[in-house]
Amino acid sequence: MNDFKEKLYRFMSGRYGFDQFSRFLMTAGLIMAVLCMFLRFLPFRSIYYICSFLNTFFYIFAVFRILSRNTYKRTLENEKYLRIRNKVMPFFDEKTKSIRDRNYIYKKCPKCSAKLRLKRIKGKHITKCPKCGLKFNVRIFIEYKNKYPDMGPY
Ligand SMILES: [Zn+2]
Repeated sequence: MNDFKEKLYRFMSGRYGFDQFSRFLMTAGLIMAVLCMFLRFLPFRSIYYICSFLNTFFYIFAVFRILSRNTYKRTLENEKYLRIRNKVMPFFDEKTKSIRDRNYIYKKCPKCSAKLRLKRIKGKHITKCPKCGLKFNVRIFIEYKNKYPDMGPY
């Protein structure tokens, strides 16, 4: 085992190794592999082939980068990837947040002022405050533009 470790160490010396971009490629490859498993049973052969090509491509690219001796070029690639990721990720965070907000509305309990999160189902409803137990009427409009369109006294 020690012998193996030493051999591995010698093999990896001078090579670039693992980084965030390779992790991304591995994850993308894995997602493609899972997709392939499902697509195999569907009639869209071309999509399956694209998927399995991408799966192989991502894995080979990741292994190539890990074993690469051109550490300078690989570092630049990783920096480029991180710059793109930092730009793209906040966009997705905003997106998931607004989707979450779209499915719920926020109401204040008229008695204890507790903030209630209610499912956005259009119409008149009776809701019960989980804090003080007060039952009160809620009217929900489908209106997305305003962030908290239904807030305020009733
Ligand atoms: Zn209450």
